Amino acid sequence: MGAPVDRIKFPTQDTQSMKKNVIIIGAGHAGIQAAASLREEGFGGSICIFSEDADFPYQKPPLSKGYLDGSQQKPSLMFRSEAWYEKNQVELRLGEVVHSVDTENQTLEADSGNYVFDTLIFATGAYNRTLPIPVTGQDEPLYLRSMKDADKLKQALDQAAVQDVLVIGGGFIGLEIAAYASKSGKQVTVVEYQPRLMQRVLPPLLSEHFAAKHQEYGVKLLTGTGVQSLHQEERWTATLSNGDTLEADKIVVGIGVLPGQALAQKAGIRCSNGIEVNEFCETSVKNIYAIGDCALHPNPFAKGQMVRLESVQNAVDQAKVIAASICGKPTAYHQVPWFWTHQYNLKLQMAGLSEGYDELIVRGDVAGEKFSVFYFHEHQLIAVDSINKPADHLQARKWIQAAHSPDRVKLADDTIKLREC
Ligand SMILES: Cc1cc2nc3c(=O)[nH]c(=O)nc-3n(C[C@H](O)[C@H](O)[C@H](O)COP(=O)(O)OP(=O)(O)OC[C@H]3O[C@@H](n4cnc5c(N)ncnc54)[C@H](O)[C@@H]3O)c2cc1C
Repeated sequence: MGAPVDRIKFPTQDTQSMKKNVIIIGAGHAGIQAAASLREEGFGGSICIFSEDADFPYQKPPLSKGYLDGSQQKPSLMFRSEAWYEKNQVELRLGEVVHSVDTENQTLEADSGNYVFDTLIFATGAYNRTLPIPVTGQDEPLYLRSMKDADKLKQALDQAAVQDVLVIGGGFIGLEIAAYASKSGKQVTVVEYQPRLMQRVLPPLLSEHFAAKHQEYGVKLLTGTGVQSLHQEERWTATLSNGDTLEADKIVVGIGVLPGQALAQKAGIRCSNGIEVNEFCETSVKNIYAIGDCALHPNPFAKGQMVRLESVQNAVDQAKVIAASICGKPTAYHQVPWFWTHQYNLKLQMAGLSEGYDELIVRGDVAGEKFSVFYFHEHQLIAVDSINKPADHLQARKWIQAAHSPDRVKLADDTIKLREC
């Protein structure tokens, strides 16, 4: 598989599902895991992955962490070796965009021609939200999503002449970049529209903890402030919502992402804030699945609500679910969401979804920066955020998966071992 339809003939209707061909669009965590899990499940048909990114498939989280600070090199970011793809007969079509999908005839059009599929997997991820404000100047603000972006960002931030860096957006990616730039000796300002950092996902206690850490490293935080325009002459001038202006040598933008759903939408597949799927990650069209950042799915850990998660865990676990389904072992998606961020010495690991909590318990040494925050809804444990406490995180994932709620009185007493709570 992998050549245009007019060059290779595929069996038109193979009744043995294990021999059918699968096309995957996107070579991120979801796409690559889907291919690997299909082979692990014994799928014997052809697998072809289209990736508009020309780089050999790599993991994205290190791009704002180890890859940016130089502690991780390119080869360590690769999901699999070239030999693995060869051995497992997974065809990679790198640097190739899929432009349209015909759901009725089960064909798609890519840069190199038309292809037929028996099963199609959208693993199209998400793309950066861009600034909705006037931007004038010779350069573009910097964004981070791909390896190419990371190389460009690193090259820009590592210049000695670059002194003042303005980061627009106080979410995970903006703050990880701010941490790197400030540790590198730059004067960093973060402008965040919301009243506090990472407000969408963290409670005030943790937002404040991270804010204090950034300030300790000299980062200037302007929360509750927007940027209204950017203009570049020699340097950039940012006009803020309060009328003030700021000067900077480089502008970095991290204001969230939008789901990669345009292709699916154009094909008539149901989409809203993502490609809509059921608990088996099936879209509204037969034989077509969506997984990872692009998939709007019913999540049991969000009380069954439709959510779209932007995390490695979600991409990998949904890939496993559809591989099992395609191989005739349908399994509903039921995995605890988890996520992490590293900023300075703070390693935050999040398990579950804390939205809607009505009680929280802090356990551990806050001043010593080793603690966890346990979130409850109607006495049920729904999420745990752990700072520099990996054992708490692992225990939390087990408890949330098993719908177990620890004894809240014992939990608040740090002298009682966690597993005895
Ligand atoms: C800088 C950064 C740091 C992150 N840090 C963390 C972290 O610490 N922890 C965590 O859990 N998550 C983190 N994430 C999020 C995590 O990387 C994503 O959740 C994960 O990559 C999702 O995998 P995916 O396969 O769904 O999408 P992606 O990895 O985005 O892959 C989708 C791919 O599909 C391709 N594609 C889209 N449309 C087409 C088309 N029409 N034709 C061909 N190819 C197409 C895209 O080019 C893209 O490469 C981070 C993300 C970034 C960018």
